Order: sequence, then structure tokens, then C-alpha cells
Amino acid sequence: MNPKRTYLDWNASAPLRPEARSAMVAALDAVGNPSSIHAEGRLARRVIEDARDKVATLVGASPNEVVFTSGATEANNWVHRRGWSTIFYAPVEHASVLATIAASASQPIEIPVLRSGAIDLSAFESALAGLSVAARSDRGTTLLTLQAANNETGVLQPLADAVALAKSYGLRIACDAVQVAGKIPFDLEASEVDYLTLSAHKIGGPKGVGAVVIRDGASLPAMLIGGGQEQRLRAGTENVAAIAGFGAAAEAAANGFADAHRIASIRDRLEAHVLEAVPGSTIIGSDAERLPNTCCVSIPARSAETLVAALDIAGIAVSAGSACSSGKVAQSHVLTAMGLAPAVVRGAIRISIGATTTEADVAALVAALKVITGRTARAA
Ligand code: PMP
Repeated sequence: MNPKRTYLDWNASAPLRPEARSAMVAALDAVGNPSSIHAEGRLARRVIEDARDKVATLVGASPNEVVFTSGATEANNWVHRRGWSTIFYAPVEHASVLATIAASASQPIEIPVLRSGAIDLSAFESALAGLSVAARSDRGTTLLTLQAANNETGVLQPLADAVALAKSYGLRIACDAVQVAGKIPFDLEASEVDYLTLSAHKIGGPKGVGAVVIRDGASLPAMLIGGGQEQRLRAGTENVAAIAGFGAAAEAAANGFADAHRIASIRDRLEAHVLEAVPGSTIIGSDAERLPNTCCVSIPARSAETLVAALDIAGIAVSAGSACSSGKVAQSHVLTAMGLAPAVVRGAIRISIGATTTEADVAALVAALKVITGRTARAA
């Protein structure tokens, strides 16, 4: 990374961990095809299976439940396209979930979110009670999809309570765990989730690789056919180096959970300094349980787009709304669903940090925000 830059956009993509880089470089030299039975092939196969073990360990799954994909967007498309009759979802889900639900034949039922960003459990309970007799007898074809943590606000969903309700009606559960993975411990066994989706680059692995964890008893139709790879579910020669990097990142992340408190205290200080430096600014999602690394702050009378551009010029990388994939800034569907005033949504930026973020990074951000907000106020 450019040492002159201050990178505060870890939820968009975390810096590559040194362990992941080394594993990838080594795997690039594994010449064999992992499906070949000779020694070179077996070596490449071992790289994949080692990585599978490490990814499984990170989330408390069994290795045979982990299916590698090209990332979480692919994983979310695959899970939500399965042919569900009904899908319960919250409007704060990632676009890869929302768009797939919109494009599928399933009946979508929206669960509203509270102002805190967490889903409204009593509204969910009422919606479940209103399920038709036909839908109730169709056990196993109705899905609840619920992200573990939101990418923009870091707000954690009440997953255990929602799952308990959903299971009492026989629903299957999908959980986008992209943002929670590696940041705080997640135990798949205890969560009773059937389909868990993950992305390597959010935990310090490479971009373009992820996984669906399919629990025992749940299933998905093959996404790609024409080869026996990934238990015949996703044919095609595996991206061995990327998978190796994912595995190494998962192992390093699992060893780093103790750091979450330190990261949270840096984030908390960052928020206190920003609130002090920019009068009228508000922290979004602070009423809910949140990831330790995420700060969503709204700056009054400013647009996120202008703030992100000005911070970029000042050498600091942050995000506006859900712009992590689009490269352009659209009004955040997440903050809008939380019922925030349009002016608050308009000025909301996401600052997300990680293990190598320092107090100096925080100081640089606060100093730049002071200049930017002061300067634009004078120009206005
Ligand atoms: N879900 C969430 C919550 C995300 O934050 C992202 C990445 N922005 C994705 C899914 C998509 O992951 P990927 O980049 O691996 O396609």
C-alpha cells in the first residue's frame, strides 16, 4: 500500500494479509491440476483442502460443507436463485441479495428495519403468522435471508432470535456473513444457518474468491456443470492460488479475534474526535450492536460524494453509502430503509478500519475533515 495514503475503507476491501500473499505466491508454483492423480495434482489438491479446513474453522463449519466460489456476489446469487417459493428479507441486504431476489420467481416478503438498523422482529413474527396454509405446508421451500452485519453501518442483526422464529415455521436460513467473518467470532453450528456466504477480500484474502457454506441437510443445484470439482456443484478447475490466499487469511483472522477490542477502541476514539471536530455530525447505527471496525457518520450540509472526493485528494480513502462496488455514489438504500432524513443520508460516509489502522490515521482523518468542512463552509 502507498505509505502516503491513509486507507480507511476496509469494509470495501481489506489489505492483503502477508500470510495470504505468501500462500498465494507458493500456490502459483503448484503446477498440477488439482483433479490430476499424479504427485503434482495431489499437491495442488492439498493446497485447496488445507484452505477449505481453515475457512471451515473460521466459521465453525465442517470442511465438506465449504464450496468455493468467485466471491460473495456469486455465492449470494446462487443461494437466492434456488427456486424458493417465498423469501423473507430485509431491505438493508447487500445488492447481490436484493437483486437476485428481485430477479427470481419467489414471492418476496420484506421485513422492515428499525431506526437502529436491526430488523423489526415483531413485524417478522406477524408476517410469519400471516403465511398462507399452503406456504406453511410447503416446509423447506421458504427462506429467511438475513445478513449478519451490514457493510455500511456495521449494525449486527439479531440473528439468533430471527432464526429461532424462522425455524419454528420450518424456514431455511441464508446468512450473508461477509462483513462479520474474521471481525468477530461466528459459530455456524450454534447459529443454525443453512447457507452462509463469505468473501475472501473482506478478511485480508484476495479479491475474486469466496464461498457458500452449505449445511448438512440443505442443498443447492449445481451452479456450473461439466466437471466434478467442488462436489460436482461448481465445475471448473479451481483458482488454486486465490483459494490458498483465502485459507491463509481465514487462519490469520481466526487468530486475531483478540484484537477486536483494541480496534473498537480506536473506532470509538475516531468517532468522538469526529463528533468534536465537526459540529452537528451524527454517528449512524450507534444505538445498535455494531462491528468493532465500522463508523458511519453523517456530516451536516455536505454530500457524501464531495466528502469522499475531498478526503481522497487529502490522501484518505473512505466510502460513501454503498458505493463500494459501483464506483459512483447512489443514495444509500440501507440508510434510507432505516428511515433517516434525506439530508442525513446525503452526508453519510463510511469509515472502516482494521488491524493496521493507527492513531495517526485517525488524526489524519480528523484533521482533513476539519479543513474540508471549514473550507467548504467558507466557500458556500
Ligand atoms: N455481501 C456484503 C455484505 C458485502 O459487503 C459484499 C462486498 N461489498 C458482498 C456481499 C459481495 O462480495 P464480493 O465482493 O466477494 O462479491
